[in-house]
Amino acid sequence: MIVVMKAHATEEEIQAVVRMVEDLDYKAHVISGIERSVVACVGDERGAKHQLTHLESVAGVERVMPVVKSFKLASREVRPEGSTIRIGNAEIGGKRLAVIAGPCAIESEAQIEAAADAVKAAGAHMLRGGAFKPRTSPYSFQGMEGEGLVLLEKAGRRVGLPVVTEIMDPHDIDLVVEHADVLQVGARNAQNFSLLRRLGRTNKPILLKRGMSTKLEEFMMAAEYILSEGNPNVILCERGIRTFETATRNTLDLNAVPLLKEWSHLPVVVDPSHGTGIYSLVAPMALAAIAAGADGLLIEVHPKPESALSDGPQQLKPARFANLMKALKPLAEAVGRTI
Ligand code: PEP
Ligand code: MN
Repeated sequence: MIVVMKAHATEEEIQAVVRMVEDLDYKAHVISGIERSVVACVGDERGAKHQLTHLESVAGVERVMPVVKSFKLASREVRPEGSTIRIGNAEIGGKRLAVIAGPCAIESEAQIEAAADAVKAAGAHMLRGGAFKPRTSPYSFQGMEGEGLVLLEKAGRRVGLPVVTEIMDPHDIDLVVEHADVLQVGARNAQNFSLLRRLGRTNKPILLKRGMSTKLEEFMMAAEYILSEGNPNVILCERGIRTFETATRNTLDLNAVPLLKEWSHLPVVVDPSHGTGIYSLVAPMALAAIAAGADGLLIEVHPKPESALSDGPQQLKPARFANLMKALKPLAEAVGRTI
């Protein structure tokens, strides 16, 4: 159930509702919108519904309504205008599109510094790079780990871009929180519920990737795990799913973009790099994602993709990335966005 407060409800009125909701054994999450706040009530609704509807007569309350979907805090009903997440000087979910770019993995200081210069010069808003890499084979390059995090942070600070990196092991959360501005959950951990819960207790935005076989409803429930622990800043990322088609690495499911935007207030970004696995397909699918309503993109860019230690075939050279950024500008305008 959600309790929709009146537009001019006071903080005291909101807190009074929170106390009443908690007295009924629900967990209360206050979600502040531009116009009004809502109090999302999560708990066992069997038999309690009747009691919550009584809140309609409480000062400051406009109405009490059920959330029919299985996901509650992630659902659009709780924030119809959509969520905008601030990350340093970047923003995701607002009018301006957010482009997160950088190499698949941090490989050396020279490599991440060159990538940082290239993506910054082309107009990206955040720098990415993996320090802990989820590789199919235990014999493949596993990432530079802690040393990589330090290099990524340093490169990001130097060029003035917030940094995004993957977290795989709950034991590394404190370390990653110390160095990164956004924590990425990879496709292989999309339903690692203990990791998701732990990330819900951090104060960093989480870039949650869709698993390779997760249905959209399961993806929403994964986001709900993070939100329900108190972290409101979740960014959904469509990165392609596994289908019968093997000509591309994955099948980029662009249906997901408008559907997730209908279902949820959370920002949605698209990763055409992992979605296709082929560098020449990245720009067309990036443009298609923005046309479909995505709030941003995640693009792998490497100064020398031919010598990359992971995902070489899908990483863009800096010049190709700069061309993509130019091509995005008129498209962004056509769909009422800026870049
Ligand atoms: C990545 O972003 O480099 C990555 C490993 O992505 P995914 O989890 O989508 O495969
Ligand atoms: Mn990669």
